Amino acid sequence: MADHYETLGVSREATPEEIKKAYRRLARELHPDVNPSEEASERFKGVTHAYDVLSDPEQRQRYDMGGGQGGANGFGDIFETFFGGGGFGGQQRGPRSRAERGDDAMIRVDVQLEEVIFGVQRDVTVNTAVLCSVCQGACTQPGTHPVTCDVCGGQGQVQRQVRSLFGNVVTMHPCGSCQGYGTIIEHPCVECAGKGRVRERRTITVDIPSGIDTGTRLQMRGGGEVGPGGGPNGDLFIEFRVMHNDIFSRDGNDLLCTMQVSMTDAILGASATLGALDGDVEVEVEGGVQSGDVVTVRGRGIQGLRSTTRGDLKIAVQVVTPSKLSGREKDLVRQLATLRKDDPPHLGEFQQGFFGKIRDRFFRQG
Ligand SMILES: [Zn+2]
Ligand SMILES: [Zn+2]
Repeated sequence: MADHYETLGVSREATPEEIKKAYRRLARELHPDVNPSEEASERFKGVTHAYDVLSDPEQRQRYDMGGGQGGANGFGDIFETFFGGGGFGGQQRGPRSRAERGDDAMIRVDVQLEEVIFGVQRDVTVNTAVLCSVCQGACTQPGTHPVTCDVCGGQGQVQRQVRSLFGNVVTMHPCGSCQGYGTIIEHPCVECAGKGRVRERRTITVDIPSGIDTGTRLQMRGGGEVGPGGGPNGDLFIEFRVMHNDIFSRDGNDLLCTMQVSMTDAILGASATLGALDGDVEVEVEGGVQSGDVVTVRGRGIQGLRSTTRGDLKIAVQVVTPSKLSGREKDLVRQLATLRKDDPPHLGEFQQGFFGKIRDRFFRQG
């Protein structure tokens, strides 16, 4: 471990004033706001620690006597553990960075059912904080730099001596002068008022995947608010709502609809061309079809979320009984009835089918 005096570049006889001066000179050179390199950050920590020890008369004395790290410093740590430290976020030491992660952002996007089948690309507008183009997140007016805080000497925290049952105890508190940053911005960027970011509406293109449902969320990493001080972006969450469709509804990846079939087509059978959401579909109605029967067209439903297979199109048959007949039509039906000798209306065995079948398949999801 490096000698604290060597770290600060001062003699063992240095006065408190000389120690403070040496520290401030080094802090100006190594402070993360000035020098973002890893090496500078490590050295800055070492310098700050050396200054912590040597700027406190009691700690310095103990250090000079070979007490090293222990003593008041160690005790201070225990004290902070018991009493929650200086309200500075746990055991964090040294100045805090102006750069913080940005918040997540969330927008809601409405999509039509037909867009869900294959997914769709959509331009959406988001309003978030973006990096200030003038200072690039540095928060300072271009050409100026933050200066080391006079009050805490760039540490971002100040020591307070507290008298207690255990004697004098040193506790650390965030520096009120620099809000813990260790530096003060004397010339904040005018464009962003020293925040390093500005609000901006921007349009982004979103690839909406197939198979989404109301409530499905898409997470776009880094699409959210840029952080204060040029910190990393939060994420953007896009929550979808699938709009109601009068003709088609949905059961998972299956599409559901109803087909009205005339009485004669129901008896004789027919073929039909239906306009589905993704184009025409040919349907064969077999003679004798009943209301509630379901015609399934395989692979014409919704393509699953992150999948290449599609659900089915399920078409429930509804046989329409004619209500207005001419005299001749009535005669023909009577002739048919005479020919067929069908049973008069009677009680039948209860069948789940019919209305039940429709209800089950169409309203299962409430
Ligand atoms: Zn700016
Ligand atoms: Zn300060």
